[in-house]
Amino acid sequence: MIQDIAPHRYDNAFALRRRPEPEDPVLCYRDGEVLLVRKGEEIDFLRVRDFLTGDAGGPADIAPQDEQTERRAEEQNDDNGFYNIGNLTFIYLFSIDKTPYYSIDVLPEAWENPGKDAVWESVRLFRSARPIDRAFAVITGMQLARWRQEHHFCGKCGSRMRPSRTERAFICTSCKNTVYPKICPAVIVAVTHGDSVLLTKYAGRDYANYALIAGFAEVGETIEETVHREVMEEVGLRVKNLRFYKSQPWSLSDTLLMGFFCDLDGDETITLDATELAVGEWKRRSEMPDRRDDVSLTSEMMEQFRLGKEPVSQP
Ligand SMILES: [Zn+2]
Repeated sequence: MIQDIAPHRYDNAFALRRRPEPEDPVLCYRDGEVLLVRKGEEIDFLRVRDFLTGDAGGPADIAPQDEQTERRAEEQNDDNGFYNIGNLTFIYLFSIDKTPYYSIDVLPEAWENPGKDAVWESVRLFRSARPIDRAFAVITGMQLARWRQEHHFCGKCGSRMRPSRTERAFICTSCKNTVYPKICPAVIVAVTHGDSVLLTKYAGRDYANYALIAGFAEVGETIEETVHREVMEEVGLRVKNLRFYKSQPWSLSDTLLMGFFCDLDGDETITLDATELAVGEWKRRSEMPDRRDDVSLTSEMMEQFRLGKEPVSQP
């Protein structure tokens, strides 16, 4: 799966932050795109030095606009992971192995068309781009970038937010409201019935492959109750013997996915929620489609069932 980057190690400890060095990688985002360097099928990143010298075709030194200057002055603090170098603010993200990754939220306009080897590409390239630790860095950095961009101001009183010095959070400069990164729990459910599993296809989406039942947890319910409710809502079935499989951070939708296998309880007749699903049907192991990717929890759970390796219920 996308987070399985061993032997590399992801370290998101906020306390690890440190000042940028010239060779440290930098991730920049705009509307679902990431700025990177393409070397054939391999992806690489621009480095801190590229933004300071203009080596990658970008500008060397362009003065920021006034409002940016103001915000950067508020944020500049060596203790909070925001580092001003030249006219840019480098924001510490996380480390992979010993390499710290940074982001720049406000780029000079000349980076719209960087030239040379640097290109803006859809973050969806993470599904096939390799090496996988860099693909994982792309979508994980994107989730953090989106969170920062949505919290310039306090949702409670409207005042400006500033980054915390003690944890990964924004604090309101007026009412002290504290906002943490957005992580939404959700379930992926494989409903099994003897030698069959329930597969679905979503309605009204480009995504045409088979999937499993999925949905977000609601306020006030346990994750097990989410499983029962989503299966009932989407296909009208009762389930039992829930077996937790694995979890997965899914940064595209700020989600923490929790995968469950479970058994059908009673009637096998499917009543489809047509607003959510176009297809819902029982598939035997032998009829299962080939594994379509090695990044998603859904794909891994379907493959485990196809191979007869899913966790089984205790007698
Ligand atoms: Zn406030």
